[in-house]
Amino acid sequence: MSTPVSQGLAPGAMLGILGGGQLARMLALAAADLGIRAHVFAPEADSPAFDVAARHTVGEYEDEAALARFADAVDVVTYEFENVPAATAAFLAARTQLHPGARALAVTQDRLSEKTFVSGLGLAVAPFRPVDSLVDLETAVAALGRPSILKTRRFGYDGKGQVKIAPGSDLAEAYEAIGHFPAILEGFVPFSREVSVVAARGADGAYAAFDVCENEHRDHILAFTRVPARLTPGATRTAIEAAHRIGDALGYIGVFAVEMFVIGDGESVIVNEIAPRVHNSGHWTSEGAETSQFHQHVRAVCGFPLGSAARRGRVEMENLIGDAALRWRQLLAEPGAHLHLYGKRDVRAGRKMGHVTRVVPEKN
Ligand code: AMP
Repeated sequence: MSTPVSQGLAPGAMLGILGGGQLARMLALAAADLGIRAHVFAPEADSPAFDVAARHTVGEYEDEAALARFADAVDVVTYEFENVPAATAAFLAARTQLHPGARALAVTQDRLSEKTFVSGLGLAVAPFRPVDSLVDLETAVAALGRPSILKTRRFGYDGKGQVKIAPGSDLAEAYEAIGHFPAILEGFVPFSREVSVVAARGADGAYAAFDVCENEHRDHILAFTRVPARLTPGATRTAIEAAHRIGDALGYIGVFAVEMFVIGDGESVIVNEIAPRVHNSGHWTSEGAETSQFHQHVRAVCGFPLGSAARRGRVEMENLIGDAALRWRQLLAEPGAHLHLYGKRDVRAGRKMGHVTRVVPEKN
């Protein structure tokens, strides 16, 4: 039996990671820095994380025999994506240690439970109503008005599984567009910007938040993150404190991100969603903070002390999406640009191929 994470693992331990994309790859690299070996479990044989992991398993998340072998070969399991099937999480949690835990997954996999949980903590969220039928949708639109946004409760990401209800929209068509899945209707938030708090909670309950960062999306995909975010000191405190409350209430261990909408010129924030994992909006920390989000996550899930989340300057992270990664030679030649490529063999439109960070030291 492995040492419980609460007592702290030791270098040499084996970290299991579910999912084999770029987040798993960067987690495995960070783990290696700390003397931790990574065993990546993913269904795709060409997973980018396999290239840098000590061990890997190609397997389906429903394959209990493969999961059992994986669980027995690692000291703790973490994951790079929030849609880990509940049965997989329960199976692994029963056989080994899973961090973040099954509760974090259950709450964040479902927009209704997530919004209910966050508002239950007294934090500001968009007004919302559950929608399980066309009649529910009509009632919800009557209550929340137009524009509003209809979102599937589960499996939505990067703007998928959602449709805007505009003044002229036909409600039956909108419900059809999301496939009649269980959904929620959210009141439209007239936000000026989007920000996120990427933070960590350690096995001992310690909390360390990176500075609030500002996110610019193009075609529903994160394009740029800039730090610090343009927020008033009061809104900055509210944002950091909101993530702290969320982490504590979930009994969370690991790094998580809380995406928020900014109202006005940075006077207040509204929580949109929680990602129970390292997050694209935290990539700036690799060079822009004393401890990267990947090292921080490995520290947390191994029961190590958290590192400093202090920022090293003004930071910009640019995602390299599709063809943008073909600029790699030019980016390598740019002084101060830190290039990260994910080793994905096929360039496809909309595919995250890499990112680049730029840090400009601030004068004291
Ligand atoms: P989500 O999948 O919840 O992250 O939403 C994707 C994007 O849709 C967000 O980044 C926002 O740009 C927009 N969006 C989501 N919910 C709302 C809302 N309640 N009001 C206005 N815009 C929203």
